[in-house]
Amino acid sequence: MLITEALPGESLYSRYIRHMTLWHMPAKAFLQTLVGNNRASIHPYITVGATNAAEFYSQNYNKIISEQTLAPLFVHFSHKRKNKIYKYLLLNDSGRAIRNCQLPNFRESEKLSLKYCLVCVHNDIKKYGISYWHIAHQVPGINSCYKHQISLLHLSLPCRPHIKMGLLPSLIGDAKASTKESFLLARYVYSRLQNIVNIGRPYNINTLLEKLRRTGFIRENNRVLRAELTYECFHLSRKLQHSSVGLLPRSDTDFNYFSYLLCNQHPQHPFKYLFLEFWLTFFCKTKVKPVLEVTAVDNTKQQTILKNKYLDLLRGGLSLAKISQKTGKSRCYLKLLALKNKISINMKPRLITTEVVKGVLKMAYKGFHRKAIAKHFKISTGSISQIISAESGLVQRRRRAKFESRRRKYKAQVLKWIALEPSDSKKYIRKYLPYAYSWLYRHERKWLYQQLNF
Ligand SMILES: [Zn+2]
Repeated sequence: MLITEALPGESLYSRYIRHMTLWHMPAKAFLQTLVGNNRASIHPYITVGATNAAEFYSQNYNKIISEQTLAPLFVHFSHKRKNKIYKYLLLNDSGRAIRNCQLPNFRESEKLSLKYCLVCVHNDIKKYGISYWHIAHQVPGINSCYKHQISLLHLSLPCRPHIKMGLLPSLIGDAKASTKESFLLARYVYSRLQNIVNIGRPYNINTLLEKLRRTGFIRENNRVLRAELTYECFHLSRKLQHSSVGLLPRSDTDFNYFSYLLCNQHPQHPFKYLFLEFWLTFFCKTKVKPVLEVTAVDNTKQQTILKNKYLDLLRGGLSLAKISQKTGKSRCYLKLLALKNKISINMKPRLITTEVVKGVLKMAYKGFHRKAIAKHFKISTGSISQIISAESGLVQRRRRAKFESRRRKYKAQVLKWIALEPSDSKKYIRKYLPYAYSWLYRHERKWLYQQLNF
């Protein structure tokens, strides 16, 4: 079977489309000839059929898989699955190859589309008379051309089998400049991809962890400064101005984004490693250095010494931000520590004084909602929660009060309804009072059944 020869940087997927277009072959006929199954599905970068393409040109199918698909990227970051990924690619089993790349399992993902650069399309048509899909543009999470600082355009992937005649990049659309950060990321990922293909060494997370240690984001007791790391990377991700942000941290408190990656126990999307490496290489210029270095593994004595030092700093009247910077401890931890030890903390724009704490506790004991207390004292609900949780037994007391309040409310609602609809109360109560019914069913079943004459 004749498969058109690859143009520079062209994906295997693109070769299929060009072949179908050139020979005017419908998708089903093409797939039957290519893989012997006219219902096969073709993925734009985990593409099956490399053996057939290799056969015609007497090429090595490994070379085709390495250079014209993104399988090496997934193999690099999940080397344990290397054999399975290659096995299913060679067996033309697209579904299993994709599953072994873990693509459906990743928490962070982006909508699959075909990506192209208008300047590249223009140059390709001028040079080769036809446009084509570049494999480097298809790397998930990349939104800029690595050659030109142009935002990639997205074309929706057609429904199964995901290929059709003439499905090539066009000159329709606006060539918008991408941000400098997005362009740098594309260039960095392109060079990493070349390196992965040429060297083929499995990924070693220790190199990344070592870099984080050197910059101070991992302390000597192996504690990761997740808050600082997430904050930095989230703000870089905003500068990328990506239309699809599914692969990036969701907020500056999305701590799970790096937690799962750095614990190295759950498979993570390759883009996340590349993004963190990119930030470390180009943007992590400051070294986070704590004043109070932790020199030994956690133990009670060490913790007590450190806690006393934090308390001294808090009593000294420094702002939470400054103490946090010096100690490496989060503002949240320091605030709670201050409240537990009855220390007034200097916060902008509101000073949480001992008087304020007393007032908050008074209202909290009376059962006021956190939002109402926050509004009264003009401080955040988060601060109110911390004051409440620092007071021994108050959380349990408020929980119990809430429980009793619900019990009274739901019982009253049920009794009122029974008085109105005595004939078929169970049916109506379930329909019109679902919350009351389910709550009483869980906590006051005996009482409920008695009222409903069970
Ligand atoms: Zn380009």
